[in-house]
Amino acid sequence: MKETDYGHKNPLRCPKCDDYRFLDFKGVQFPKENKSIGIKIPFFDCRNCDTSTPVVLFPKPIIDNIKEAENYYKEIANEQLEKLNDGEFIGLTNSTENKVFESLNTVGFKYDSRDYYHIPGLFRQWDEGYLTPIFFSKDLLLYYNSHSDYKVKFASTSRFHIFNKNDETLIRHGFGINRNGKIICWLGDLEKDLQDDENDVHRKLFLTFNIDSDHDIISDYYFNQIEANWTSSDNETGIFYYRNEFDKKIKDLFEFELTQLDIETLIDEYKHPIINESHQIENSYIKLNSLLSESLNVSELKKSLRENGVDSKLIKGLKGLKLFEKFIEHCLKIENASEIVSPLFVLYDLRLLAGHIKDSKYDEKFKSCKERLNLTDDVNDLEVHQEVCKKIKEMYEYLNKN
Ligand SMILES: [Zn+2]
Repeated sequence: MKETDYGHKNPLRCPKCDDYRFLDFKGVQFPKENKSIGIKIPFFDCRNCDTSTPVVLFPKPIIDNIKEAENYYKEIANEQLEKLNDGEFIGLTNSTENKVFESLNTVGFKYDSRDYYHIPGLFRQWDEGYLTPIFFSKDLLLYYNSHSDYKVKFASTSRFHIFNKNDETLIRHGFGINRNGKIICWLGDLEKDLQDDENDVHRKLFLTFNIDSDHDIISDYYFNQIEANWTSSDNETGIFYYRNEFDKKIKDLFEFELTQLDIETLIDEYKHPIINESHQIENSYIKLNSLLSESLNVSELKKSLRENGVDSKLIKGLKGLKLFEKFIEHCLKIENASEIVSPLFVLYDLRLLAGHIKDSKYDEKFKSCKERLNLTDDVNDLEVHQEVCKKIKEMYEYLNKN
């Protein structure tokens, strides 16, 4: 799925601020004397710089310019106004609206066919409707995440797969999570992979959580599939990858195992938090902290520090994380060691908070964690989780480079 029919730059990118805009349809009136035409016009809206631009996307070549787009729709309206009688008002329907893709209609998902024709990169002449985004509420994942036969694995915060007990993907290209926290998946993939009788339960579940489109499919899933743009993983999967690389490098350079645990098994058992629910998030902190900090090989770190001329008095009684910080400073000779490893200390503090009663002391400590992550106080628990994971991933990425 690499085909793009819109040149080198995605037209969703805002010309003003370069952020990704989202598609919206707004009713616009074109009155003349005592007649009027209403047209639902596609707009590209930018949340970042608060702009709203009418656009022409289908079937004409794209017009992404307020004046030209207005003229285009005015012309259509004027043509229709000529045909109206005095005092008459009509609303025009878009030719792409309420379309049913017949060959992809066995399960009966609801979708907005306009998405397929208007969101850049989805339309294919030869495979009509295949890449229509189907929207689901995140609650769909609660079943798969708690069922022992399935695993939900996030390649990044906005792209994931569901695996069955044979380690096969349930839906071939997986799923995305858009900026409003909704799950998205291509109609064609769902139709193909949920057809067999044995998938009856899945079909029913997916239908239950099938919700209306909000026209926004910006996610790693969309970039990955449509822009064919490999955005490197920004979540725990990225952490595991870079930490593994880091461990290998330490083994090559210093000839010892940095980790005392069987990381593979722990990673396999690891569950990504799926919704903003404290139990899931706290469990993740506990697992990540034991994976990344508690598993550190204390005796080898001490040995290596002594071999690099650090006085044993200075490291006496120090625990894993502090030793790791010293190791970075004295053995890897990287400056600002305390600043670099600070995300791991934040994780440690978040892990300590797990299971605690949420009193004023808790609030104070939690606030300090958010401050150290450069987050404002009003972000939710899941956003804190995503940020600490992103920072830890960046930390290992940086250490690997240096
Ligand atoms: Zn913008």
